[in-house]
Amino acid sequence: MFNFFISPEQLNSGIAQIQGKDFNHIKNVLRMEKGEKFLVSVSGVSHLCSLKEFTTDSVICEIIEENYLDTALPINIHLFQGLPKSDKLELIIQKAVELGVTEITPVEMARSIVKLEPKKKKDKTERWQAIAESSAKQSKRTIIPTVHEPITFKNAISVAKSTDLIILPFECANGMDALKSVLAEIKQGMMVSVFIGPEGGFDESEVQTAIDNGARLVSLGKRILRTETASILTVGALMLHTEMNL
Ligand code: SAM
Repeated sequence: MFNFFISPEQLNSGIAQIQGKDFNHIKNVLRMEKGEKFLVSVSGVSHLCSLKEFTTDSVICEIIEENYLDTALPINIHLFQGLPKSDKLELIIQKAVELGVTEITPVEMARSIVKLEPKKKKDKTERWQAIAESSAKQSKRTIIPTVHEPITFKNAISVAKSTDLIILPFECANGMDALKSVLAEIKQGMMVSVFIGPEGGFDESEVQTAIDNGARLVSLGKRILRTETASILTVGALMLHTEMNL
């Protein structure tokens, strides 16, 4: 079933109005007809709707079942991803959105090979946000996670400091006890920050800064994982742990 996102002002007394590129998609690509059903997500809630009519620039649909689907995780996850090479970040964004992440911030870390000019940053972020939207639609998310413009590690830590927990998977951390105890501390409604290094890993000073700001270093096992594997695994582990235990 298709899933479309609207803003609160596009919903009034049980009638939703879909406009813009989704209007064109519904009318001209999907060629939907009166009576067809799909999901409309607004402010984190998904409703089941039925297509009523088309106007010149809108799809008018009626909510037939409110709060039809709740796919949100019991926690919010902000992924701070060390800026990786090539299109790895697109894969990471797509998978992290499917797994329930709330926000993603690419971080220009000391060992990030890619350095983006301001104009390129803006263009790339628009593309990354579009990937997040497409993945949110496909995975029936009730929100479209935000992909922020890349920031420095120092700024990323100051953003993460305001969250409830900072988890930093570190390939030099030993044993699984740290991960076990961090997972046990996670409570319903927490905002959890996850820092993943780029291909070259974290710089020593970045690890120290993270520790000084309360980050919890954890191991993801004895093998060295690619950055994209570590990202997807960590968000996935948080998703499974919280879905099973909270
Ligand atoms: N410095 C690593 C090496 O020796 O090849 C490369 C870094 S790894 C490709 C990228 C990131 O994935 C790391 O910075 C870390 O965040 C995460 N990672 C990879 N393997 C890990 C492991 N076994 N435990 C914890 N984190 C890991």
